[in-house]
Amino acid sequence: MAKREPFSINGKLIEAGTSEILEIQVAGLYDFTQVSIPLEVIHGKEDGPTVFISAAIHGDEINGVEIIKRLRTHSALKKIKGTLILAPIVNVFGFNAKSRYLPDRRDLNRSFPGSERGSLAARVANIFMKEVVKKAHYGIDLHTAAINRNNFPQLRADLKDKETKDLVLAFGAPVAVNSHLRDGSLREASRKEGVKMLLYEGGEALRFDEFTIKIGIRGCMAVLEKIGTIKPRKRKSSKEHKVFFSEGSQWVRAPMSGSYRSLTKLGEIIHAGEKLATISDPFGRHAHDVIVKNEGLVIGMSSLPLVNQGDAMFHIAYFEDFEELSDVFDQDYDFPDLES
Ligand SMILES: [Zn+2]
Repeated sequence: MAKREPFSINGKLIEAGTSEILEIQVAGLYDFTQVSIPLEVIHGKEDGPTVFISAAIHGDEINGVEIIKRLRTHSALKKIKGTLILAPIVNVFGFNAKSRYLPDRRDLNRSFPGSERGSLAARVANIFMKEVVKKAHYGIDLHTAAINRNNFPQLRADLKDKETKDLVLAFGAPVAVNSHLRDGSLREASRKEGVKMLLYEGGEALRFDEFTIKIGIRGCMAVLEKIGTIKPRKRKSSKEHKVFFSEGSQWVRAPMSGSYRSLTKLGEIIHAGEKLATISDPFGRHAHDVIVKNEGLVIGMSSLPLVNQGDAMFHIAYFEDFEELSDVFDQDYDFPDLES
């Protein structure tokens, strides 16, 4: 068998059957400290797809950083087919500042595909496109909820695409949401390059959430298995990871300003007419119940119990197979086979 060609990245060649951690320099700080995006490239001996797993495109969404840190220690990754690129911190500026944004206040996930001569965000996006995305067939981008919000582990993907939907099923997060592509997102730019992408999100910004991390590791490994990067592994349990596909979702908003105590939690089934919280003034006066109109599952909620009128409080997803969903989620959601 002919030796596989080396993988070329950032002016470097990585030989087949080796892996390397490298740093791609981006603009420095104004004190002249150099800033670079850390990447690990695992270039398998045998041919196969190229796949990237990225995190912290929003710099404060750090669950994915931990997912990649633990994922890379899996022995299955020592012998892969194709090429795996791990990008634990894409927005290095935001990560160091514990911020979603870049120093220019731009959102990197609205700046793709970027440009060589554009804003700082556009330049970072451009480098990531050029060095990583354009070389890949598949991608998994890891997120959490935005600051002061918490999300139940969920996948966002183009569910109309058959292969992408199969990857969603393989990943096996409890909930999948068919989400529209946002202008300037990595997912939109990837799709234009023909890259099949999943976006996984769960937990809060600036926190590690063990439940989300474990589902994330298991999901990434299952996708790598599905596309042939790693060999199928023996299962400890034969239980299926049922994925519920949401028909749509809506935020329940604060009917008035005040503080509140939540009566529900993430992953909880709710029924039409149920009370989710009571908002009142600091003395408990002017109490006003927050009632949900439709049955569904709580997939996101504010973790800040202070609201102005109109603020988003609870994110409720709707499902066609609500009865089956209720059976699975009725008790505290127990995810099978979570030792990752
Ligand atoms: Zn995000």
